[in-house]
Amino acid sequence: FSPVAMLQKVAVSSFASLEGKLALVTGGSRGIGRAIALELGRAGAEVVVGYRTGREEAEAVASEIGGRAVEADVSDAESAKSLVEAAGDLDVLVNNAGLTRDGLLVRMSDDDWRTVIDTNLSSVFYTCRAAARPMMRKRAGSIVNVSSIVGVHGNWGQTNYAASKGGIVAFTKSLAQELGSCGIRANVVAPGYIKTQLTDAIPEEAQQTMLGLTPLGRFGGPEDVARAVRFLASDDAAFITGEVMVVGGGLGM
Ligand code: NDP
Repeated sequence: FSPVAMLQKVAVSSFASLEGKLALVTGGSRGIGRAIALELGRAGAEVVVGYRTGREEAEAVASEIGGRAVEADVSDAESAKSLVEAAGDLDVLVNNAGLTRDGLLVRMSDDDWRTVIDTNLSSVFYTCRAAARPMMRKRAGSIVNVSSIVGVHGNWGQTNYAASKGGIVAFTKSLAQELGSCGIRANVVAPGYIKTQLTDAIPEEAQQTMLGLTPLGRFGGPEDVARAVRFLASDDAAFITGEVMVVGGGLGM
């Protein structure tokens, strides 16, 4: 028996603990959202897994961590509000749901513009607005919004996506200023290139170019993003708000 080893073990296992916290993760049915939900669940949180179409997948994620799966289209104001209300008295809100509709500006349809802005950006406004008052009442809460490195640097063929993700950064920094005095923190995680269904559609050549620009020399996994979200969601990040944490293996440095 070594008291030092014992203490070290306790210190490690309690790092970024979410014991006793209630968390909502939007887009938790697959990809990065799935990894976030599992990570928060393993950190001790009770997790509500939001999904739109992937019911079976979301229920599988929820059952793995003893959470609940709730259906909602977060691009719709009423549906997003109902999701937050159904989740309950949130300690942690993670806005992860998102999609792409890539194309050059000159050929971009109104529908592709609106779908991306509504799904990626307006959704964040809807859920944060719904979650803010209850969090203000208990003077505690942590919001983590998933943007993208594209929201910081822009990207060819992604004016709609870049606008939505850049909007998340500006929105979150503003929110952090409004809610800081109420004990609520709001931060952004901006992933680089992460292997999921979203990026599988990117042509092989473009993937290799991206890899060449990533100093760590590999694509990220959803778990890489999930660990950053867990940290920012937890009380170990108690003095961190309005920040953008890029999880991209150095891409865009
Ligand atoms: P996936 O396409 O694998 O998953 C997207 C998730 O969003 C799904 O769970 C989907 O739910 C959900 N979703 C989409 N539209 C809606 C909606 N209207 N209402 C509710 N849920 C919705 O994507 P990733 O896991 O790769 O991406 C997750 C987030 O990370 C996104 O915001 C993305 O922009 C961001 N990101 C990803 C990067 C990457 O390299 N993969 C890089 C930078 C940022 P369902 O399946 O149930 O319909």
